[in-house]
Amino acid sequence: MKDLKLTGSRPGAERTVIDIAGVRIGEGLVVIAGPCAVESEDQTVRTAVAVKEAGAKMLRGGAFKPRTSPYAFQGLGLKGLKILDKARRETGLPIVTEVIDTRDVSWVGEYADVLQIGARNMQNFSLLREAGKSGRPILLKRGMYSTLEEWLNCAEYILAEGNGQVILCERGIRTFETFTRNTLDLSMIPAVHSQSHLPIFVDPSHGTGILGMIEPMSLAAVAAGADGLEIEVHIDPSSALSDKDQQLRPEAFARLMRRLERQREFIEEMYAREES
Ligand code: PEP
Ligand code: MN
Repeated sequence: MKDLKLTGSRPGAERTVIDIAGVRIGEGLVVIAGPCAVESEDQTVRTAVAVKEAGAKMLRGGAFKPRTSPYAFQGLGLKGLKILDKARRETGLPIVTEVIDTRDVSWVGEYADVLQIGARNMQNFSLLREAGKSGRPILLKRGMYSTLEEWLNCAEYILAEGNGQVILCERGIRTFETFTRNTLDLSMIPAVHSQSHLPIFVDPSHGTGILGMIEPMSLAAVAAGADGLEIEVHIDPSSALSDKDQQLRPEAFARLMRRLERQREFIEEMYAREES
């Protein structure tokens, strides 16, 4: 792909590894988990404790929610960021949270360990530039109508500002299929690995919108080489203020984490046998 001066793969060179408060991205599977939205201190801290216990390495939670309807819950804003800070202090988990407005990047970056740029803002070029200037690690989701080349060019905007800490995240695209919320494009995992040195995560929650599909798609993503997963987990999904149908209960998340670990052992053994 042309013009990917900074994000394009560098033959023979190392892949990007990002250190986020001791969590190494790009060196083995990292799972980010937490609620779609920060709703209260109790909901966020209890969810954070549960996902940490199950093995998640970072906590997600939106304080600014990009919603389809202007009348839907928009997030708690600053109050939500303070709750995330409390959850971080209680669990030690670094925080991943979305920023949706250029004017908010620098101060939201003071609370966040990783700034998320959501699918709807993937090509918001001024937001990308600000994110680059913030110097914070950025989790850049794939736009729902975007090609790989467009997505990597958006990462290029961030790197062009001198910020090389970019994690890509496949979260599904719009196709003619309406059964699932989006069509999760797992082919992007090897595609990104061949075209770029940046790490690639997969979000099976927004990628399918269907509870029962989160585990199989997570296992498939990891089998295909994903560097990490971002999964929505809520202490009580039925009461959630957003995305209630796709948030795992902590028990289901813990079972998924156990299965991911068993799959990792299986895959490692498979490669070890081939080598011997
Ligand atoms: C999210 O992860 O909170 C989110 C809104 O996802 P996306 O931007 O992929 O829709
Ligand atoms: Mn959500």
